Amino acid sequence: MKKQLKNFVAGEFVTTGSTFDIYNPVTGTAHAEAFEADKALVDRAVSAARTALKGEWGSMPLQKRRALLGKVADLIEARFDEFLAAEVADTGKPVSLASHIDIPRGAANFRVFADGIANVSTETFEMDTPDGRGAINYSVRKPLGVIAIISPWNLPLLLMTWKVAPALACGNTIIVKPSEETPSTATLLAEVIKEAGIPDGVFNLVHGFGPDSAGEFLTSHPGVDAITFTGETRTGSAIMRAASETVKALSFEMGGKNPGIVFADADFDAAVEGIGRAIFANTGQVCLATERVYVERPIFDRFVQAMKEKAEAMHIGLPQDAETNFGPLVSAEHRDKVLSYYKLAVEEGATVVTGGGVPKFGDERDNGYYVQPTIITGLPETARCVKEEIFGPIAHIAPFDTEEEAVAMANDTEYGLASSIWTTNLTCAHRVAGQIEAGINWVNCWFLRDLRTPFGGTKMSGIGREGGIHSINFYSEPVNICVKL
Ligand code: NAD
Repeated sequence: MKKQLKNFVAGEFVTTGSTFDIYNPVTGTAHAEAFEADKALVDRAVSAARTALKGEWGSMPLQKRRALLGKVADLIEARFDEFLAAEVADTGKPVSLASHIDIPRGAANFRVFADGIANVSTETFEMDTPDGRGAINYSVRKPLGVIAIISPWNLPLLLMTWKVAPALACGNTIIVKPSEETPSTATLLAEVIKEAGIPDGVFNLVHGFGPDSAGEFLTSHPGVDAITFTGETRTGSAIMRAASETVKALSFEMGGKNPGIVFADADFDAAVEGIGRAIFANTGQVCLATERVYVERPIFDRFVQAMKEKAEAMHIGLPQDAETNFGPLVSAEHRDKVLSYYKLAVEEGATVVTGGGVPKFGDERDNGYYVQPTIITGLPETARCVKEEIFGPIAHIAPFDTEEEAVAMANDTEYGLASSIWTTNLTCAHRVAGQIEAGINWVNCWFLRDLRTPFGGTKMSGIGREGGIHSINFYSEPVNICVKL
């Protein structure tokens, strides 16, 4: 019996006349079905959110709002195993990963922003006036209003709550549209929101797709004040067009083609470990993942050999097996896309160091969406495989001779999300990090995240920043009050 995933509007779980299947990427079988929201239901969700802004939520004391967010975190933790099972069923990711990152971070986001909102200040300016008595300006923070949250499938609960938590902390009301591939944890979150006692209409959930479905109905809706989106750059540009009609505030976290730069003086083992994780974690389906590696020539061959060994040592297994550290891709469609790049790499003249195909298991996983961890070399910097985001477990490794050359190659991309730099020369590390055109840059580490720091991309990788005060600044707006003394 497939699980049924309902919409959640005005505090009620709602079915519709149309459903779509959710597939388990490990076996390729449908394990759940979601009720697709039609335009009328999206309209109802927007109007419920608008009404809730004016109700109890709109005048709720901050301490009470914070307590409710804390309760949401507690309830996610109380239902940890259910959230974990749902995330693993939708994504196929290893339990070892989801139990350490996705679910705990999903809960932690509520605590981080419940604390964050208690610790923000606003501005005050004293000014002179012609009568000599002066005036004081001070600003207060107001919620933005009704916010549409459009989230992706790669870290479903984590990336959704990264938006839901600060939006609620700032007093907004929201409509969430999770990815059509991974709607299960969002549906569980709706249950938790209800159980926590968050007033009806504050959190609404609609299921569906992008174009001509719930995504587009929301992003073009005149009743939505702001959109926060994480996903592909191409989708971001469609959303921007839709949002322009009614001039909505936008926060965009989008694609990347992130470089890793390894200098010859780097701690070799740490660099292999770190870059290996950056290429293969979550089967390469991390926006911050490394798909281009530049290695200083004296250690190039040794590094490529080490990455080959790393790739071949990945344990591709069932999510529940403790040693599994490599799962399937999210969907058949995404696997076709990644495999088309594996093929293109060969056509473009790459040397396939390892991988490039589909693993064979001889069991139910052969119907799942697995691909091999893959390392390629030998492509010119102009090759499509070096330029385009693949979003799979593949990286191209190229040698460099000078620091200037490495920086130039790293920056030669339309994206600007993340980078990692590996060296024991601190001066070089600071110099190079300061020149990389990306929003998030790591030195001798990768994915080390302090949630207060600015998170987001330059160039085609995003608009605005999330994290700490940056999220709070997006989800609220300062209103100035000028008092003549
Ligand atoms: P996607 O753009 O296909 O989908 C994201 C969401 O947008 C889904 O909910 C989808 O239904 C919705 N959508 C699609 N078309 C729409 C439209 N026309 N109008 C409104 N909504 C629409 O992205 P994905 O495939 O789910 O995720 C992978 C992508 O996300 C990669 O490019 C990755 O780099 C990016 N990503 C970025 C970050 C970041 O923080 N920068 C984090 C994770 C993923």
